[in-house]
Amino acid sequence: MGLQRVHVAGGGLAGPLLAVMLAQRGIPLTLYERRSDPRAHGTTSGRSINLALADRGIRALEQAGLMGQIRPMMLPMRGRMVHDPQADSAPRLLPYGQRDREVIYSVGREALNRVLIEAAARLPEVQLRFDTTCTDADPVRGTLTCQDNRSGARHEVREAVTIATDGAGSALRTSLARAGHVVVTELPLEHDYKELHVPPRDAQYALRAEALHVWPRHGYMLIALPNPDHSFTATLFLPRTGAPGFDTLGSDAAVEEFFRSEFPTAAALIPDLATQFRTHPQGHLGTIHTDPWARGSVLLLGDAAHAIVPFHGQGMNAAFEDCTVLDSLLEGAGKSAHHDWPGIFATFNAVRRTDAQAIAQMALENYAEMRSAVLDERFLRHKAWALQLERLHPARFIPRYAMVMFHPEISYSQALRRGDVQQQILAALDQDADAAGLATQLNGAQLARAQELIAAWL
Ligand code: FAD
Repeated sequence: MGLQRVHVAGGGLAGPLLAVMLAQRGIPLTLYERRSDPRAHGTTSGRSINLALADRGIRALEQAGLMGQIRPMMLPMRGRMVHDPQADSAPRLLPYGQRDREVIYSVGREALNRVLIEAAARLPEVQLRFDTTCTDADPVRGTLTCQDNRSGARHEVREAVTIATDGAGSALRTSLARAGHVVVTELPLEHDYKELHVPPRDAQYALRAEALHVWPRHGYMLIALPNPDHSFTATLFLPRTGAPGFDTLGSDAAVEEFFRSEFPTAAALIPDLATQFRTHPQGHLGTIHTDPWARGSVLLLGDAAHAIVPFHGQGMNAAFEDCTVLDSLLEGAGKSAHHDWPGIFATFNAVRRTDAQAIAQMALENYAEMRSAVLDERFLRHKAWALQLERLHPARFIPRYAMVMFHPEISYSQALRRGDVQQQILAALDQDADAAGLATQLNGAQLARAQELIAAWL
């Protein structure tokens, strides 16, 4: 008798990567996706939406043997290019790390999705069902219910092993919550977002390539990531209501005035700004906590389990890392014909939970850093000190951002904990410092003190 079929609900980013990993273990599976087959048509939106891919995601893609196809799509971003509010100041690059390899990459969401779907489709263990919406997972009856979007026909799978990768708005999570199997806490952010297209200028990037551009304005911000066609995708993060807020930008004139006064350098690069603003959707953001993620033979994974705000650029990376964690549990379970799926799912829930909570918290904290702290002298001094201490104590002191983005061997929860201790060390150095000690490089006495604190606390 062969291995039991697994049903993966959601063919976005985590779903097809997981499908590839399971298939590589010889596990037969069906992958369901609500949308139609991305291989059959071009981009659905006509717009390019991009994401930052970092080492945790890369490690998962490498493990699945997919980096050969994905590497050519990756555009390096070496740091944050900060566009200060003062109109006359030149943008300044804050490098993400101090080693050449410490860069993150802009990738197009739809292109990535297509490569992942193609990779899954090549494996004989994988059946793909597009235009199919999964509506209900019942861990007591052991069923998964799906609906064919074209015919409307409903179909129930019995004795189903189900992994829900149907994203932040997960219908399967809702079905589990409705039946009392899981408790869901949704913490909406009071800020929404809107994506805007920055076209190439004279067929070249209109802003410096190889950077993530950010226009921090304390209460809100604009960012922009490069695309392969020399355009950028900019995203405005702004309170839903207030002054300024999305609700006060109801007319073309108000939009133009707001951008002209707050983001003049960006506004100059978007000729059809008001039209784009009027026609592009306004997206909502938030954090979703689900407890537990596993019930019987049903597991929630990726955003379906733990959607986070996008400010650390880690939602997809965390969802991909979920796939590696689950895959390593299967590795540990060996090659038995019957996996103990409820047991594996319960273990996944137990081992991954604190890490998901840690990145949810760090993602929220990073919003304050990106939109405001990067303008603050103390923050910039601490950033420079942290890099200096990392150079001197590379195994002990690693800036938190670098731990999250470039050190997948350090878990999110360790990064959060070590980051807190490091913050205390930097604060102590600040407290001890006289005026001369507040330079961007630590002096000899401060370095000696730092060494003591590192030895005692880290
Ligand atoms: P998704 O990618 O959302 O995939 C879910 C899939 O399920 C979709 O294809 C959907 O069509 C399908 N589906 C939905 N419902 C059903 C159903 N009932 N039945 C069948 N199929 C269904 N992360 C990063 O790592 N870096 C970034 O820079 C970054 N930037 C972001 C910027 C913004 C503005 C936002 C909103 C998010 C960002 N993220 C980023 C987060 C990232 O998009 C998500 O964490 C990631 O997409 C999660 O992958 P997933 O597979 O769990 O869900």
